[in-house]
Amino acid sequence: MKVLLVEDEEGLVLTLTDRLISEGFNVTSATDGRDGFELAASQPFDLLILDVMLPKKNGYDICRDLRQKGIATPVLMLTAKGETIDKVLGLKLGADDYLTKPFEMIELLARVEALLRRSPVSRANGQGTDTFKFGEVSIDFKRAEVVKNNDTVELSAMEFKLLQFLIENRGHVHSRDHLLDEVWGYDAMPSTRTVDVHIAWLRQKLEDNPKHPSFIQTVHGMGYKFAA
Ligand code: CA
Repeated sequence: MKVLLVEDEEGLVLTLTDRLISEGFNVTSATDGRDGFELAASQPFDLLILDVMLPKKNGYDICRDLRQKGIATPVLMLTAKGETIDKVLGLKLGADDYLTKPFEMIELLARVEALLRRSPVSRANGQGTDTFKFGEVSIDFKRAEVVKNNDTVELSAMEFKLLQFLIENRGHVHSRDHLLDEVWGYDAMPSTRTVDVHIAWLRQKLEDNPKHPSFIQTVHGMGYKFAA
């Protein structure tokens, strides 16, 4: 598994690199945002660990620009304690998870493993449906590709995972807590608002009328379901 670490605190780069290597990861690092972006855009990685505050290009901009290029590598963002972080903005731009510094190494490793285990690439190698169509949308789960009206739709890794879970379990109502548990894989996310943000973005990208969704439906007082 190849991990790209973009972080300007040299001490943290050394500590994280050592630990990730000892866990069996192949680690590449960059200490400014521009180099980090160029590496992430030019080589395949299984996971990006992105500091938010970086010289030359910040973590939000890196994430947004990668998603715009169609690069769906899972992103774990790091933020320093005391920095104001706009989680909703970050999630909109395509980050998959956050960790606030200082953090315990064990917590970072847990997040890394959760993101890797549940990435579309590794999930698609397992069982389940390969393709699915609804409305004008068709999804190739093996290739993690979504097409609407013949145009490719860019989804973040977490948007894709959420969509896949809803489709594989369509017709059933899922509470926000259940979705956090099933899709994000642990309960470290402080708020079920995360689920709402991802649902809203899926509707924006996939529904003909996001305000009156035909497929990704709200069940008031209960949660969400994908129409059977
Ligand atoms: Ca920094």
